[in-house]
Amino acid sequence: MNEVTYEEIVRNVQEMCQKANFDLGEDVYAAFQEALSTETSDTGKEILNQLVENADIATQDRVPMCQDTGTAVFIVELGQDCRIVGGNLIDAINEGVAKGYQEGYLRNSMIYDPLNRKNTGDNTPAVVHIELVEGNSVTLHMTAKGGGAENMSRMKMLKPSDGLEGIKKYVLHVVEEAGPNACPPLVVGIGVGGNFERCTYLAKKSLFRPIGERHADETIAQLEFELMEDINRLGIGPQGMGGSTTALDVKIESAACHIAALPVAVNLNCHASRHQTVTLG
Ligand code: SF4
Repeated sequence: MNEVTYEEIVRNVQEMCQKANFDLGEDVYAAFQEALSTETSDTGKEILNQLVENADIATQDRVPMCQDTGTAVFIVELGQDCRIVGGNLIDAINEGVAKGYQEGYLRNSMIYDPLNRKNTGDNTPAVVHIELVEGNSVTLHMTAKGGGAENMSRMKMLKPSDGLEGIKKYVLHVVEEAGPNACPPLVVGIGVGGNFERCTYLAKKSLFRPIGERHADETIAQLEFELMEDINRLGIGPQGMGGSTTALDVKIESAACHIAALPVAVNLNCHASRHQTVTLG
């Protein structure tokens, strides 16, 4: 049995929150460069250049790349032979988020209650999903998920007879409806299958896969590719100002589901697609 301390988790989460907001991931940065070489609109190109410049300034000056510094969402892969000592895992993550956001002067976006709307003052609580895996280490995947793109995310229980074409039609509808409100260019995360709550989790989880990395299953990889082409033909473009770069990537995760169901969830991520990963133990 391997041990990881409460303090190690706090310290690493603290750093992850700041790095996610200050340093755009290499995959997203490379996707901006790639989009610059393919974007057909001059305005679209200009906006992509501004996004690259914005990311550079954030890294150099240690300031957040967007005023919306997001909800801190974690997927924790906890090895079954790894023990957290000195405190509770969720408490450690929340303490790390509070310290990271406060020390980094990152905006606090979380409220105690959706009805009284009072700010918690330190961007906690984080949203934490735990997956029990083999091994003796713990891997923390973190994203600072922007509110605008989350607001335009959708879920629908399709009919099994809707099939592949129904899935494509629904995804395109969601992206079109989002238009500029999800801050494109987007990363489009899609969950297919599972049940009501698992499907939305799959969509979120898909966003943690680096941009450019296709799904291991050939059929799903092909669907990701085709949807990417279709989405970029919508003409929404960078920041919704028109162009051929509406999506930087499309990610799909799927799971077994009931014979009567075809759940589809679309979790949109904005151009500030911020994610960090660290393994401890
Ligand atoms: S959705 Fe993303 S880009 Fe838009 S305001 Fe929020 S964090 Fe910023």
